[in-house]
Amino acid sequence: MTSELKKLYELQKTDSGLAEQRREVDRHEGALAARRGAIAECAQRESAVAAERAALVHRRALLERELEDLNSKLRERKQRQNTVASAREFDASKIELRDLSRDIEGHEEQLYEIEVEIEQVEARLLVHQKEREDLEQADHRQVEDEGGRIDELRAILEKATEERQLVTGAIEASALKRYEIVLKRGAGLAVVEVEGEACKGCHVRIPPQVLIDIRRSRSINHCPSCQRILFLVSPED
Ligand SMILES: [Zn+2]
Repeated sequence: MTSELKKLYELQKTDSGLAEQRREVDRHEGALAARRGAIAECAQRESAVAAERAALVHRRALLERELEDLNSKLRERKQRQNTVASAREFDASKIELRDLSRDIEGHEEQLYEIEVEIEQVEARLLVHQKEREDLEQADHRQVEDEGGRIDELRAILEKATEERQLVTGAIEASALKRYEIVLKRGAGLAVVEVEGEACKGCHVRIPPQVLIDIRRSRSINHCPSCQRILFLVSPED
């Protein structure tokens, strides 16, 4: 194996480690983001219920004012009834008082129903508040636990990235470029072994002439099918 190939093989190991570390950082950050999303959703449900409650409270205030007006009107009409001059006027006053009383009764019923609704909405609001508070507390714990872990991982990642630069600095530019192109296409592996005369990356059989070239050549050889960089004996052997 040529020294250039060894360097590329080393680079591939570094890159596999880096990819794994990046995935781990993503996993931790994804878990935190999901939790924050759940809190946001919960807060949204809570504010929808709070808006429902506010509308009911507003309606209750209106009804209370109307009821107050109706009651004072009733008192006033009752006093007026004592001063009517004719039987006809008295009958008309009686009808008016009856209608007012009915109206008052209707308002009182509506008020009672609204009180019940407000109680139910407030109970639901409490459930949502509790749910959100629980989530926030759990999030706080998770942020404390995992925030440190994410920082730690980021530091490792930074160091590994610096180390990678040292490795790539020693590799010839065209070989490095080829490696990076193949790595992007090759789902994580750019340098693969020839196993049973086939490429271990794509499992396509290597033509005999290419095998001879690999054995003889001191340059870098590629799989004719997938373009991955090939080696015959593991650089660790
Ligand atoms: Zn191949």
